[in-house]
Amino acid sequence: MKTVGVLALQGAFIEHEKILKQLGVRPLEIKHKEDLNQINGIILPGGESTTQGSLLETEDLLQPLKEKIEQGLPTLATCAGSILLSQEIEDQQEVYLQTLPVTIRRNAFGRQSHSFKSRGTFLSTAVEMIFIRAPFFTQVDPDVQILSKIEDHIVAVQYHNQVALSFHPELTQDPTIHSYFIHTLLV
Ligand code: GLN
Repeated sequence: MKTVGVLALQGAFIEHEKILKQLGVRPLEIKHKEDLNQINGIILPGGESTTQGSLLETEDLLQPLKEKIEQGLPTLATCAGSILLSQEIEDQQEVYLQTLPVTIRRNAFGRQSHSFKSRGTFLSTAVEMIFIRAPFFTQVDPDVQILSKIEDHIVAVQYHNQVALSFHPELTQDPTIHSYFIHTLLV
């Protein structure tokens, strides 16, 4: 049985664990760098990226996790998790893992769209998308694949072993995106 780590410092990690179990994968909560040696892939959940980023630092996880992702660890990031992966964050000096060659804008949909649901297409599959103070990608390197757009904004990308989303598939009943991650990226 495959094991997928779920970064469990802050945010919506329990929801991801439930979906992994439904799909026959064992979830492992990641709180320490030693946990990284036991996993076939990792999920970086939504939450608050500044809090998650400073906890990565204080728990001494930032550098080991960055190295694992650079070495090819399959990674699925949602919302704040995608901010952690991004090489650049608009209007912000502080950056974190920087393994994904994109620029991201935090809270990008504006105040009136604090949180909303939409239907979109992920590759060619229709999925429900839940956005909560969501970011979107404003610039991507040419070798980053765009998987989804909403109102012309890029909301899902893939770069080799990393899939990053603006929205929260773990808050819907639809396992499409977790299945995609498990079946196409987990080795
Ligand atoms: N707005 C949050 C941040 O910038 C992300 C929101 C989320 O993960 N739902 O960290």
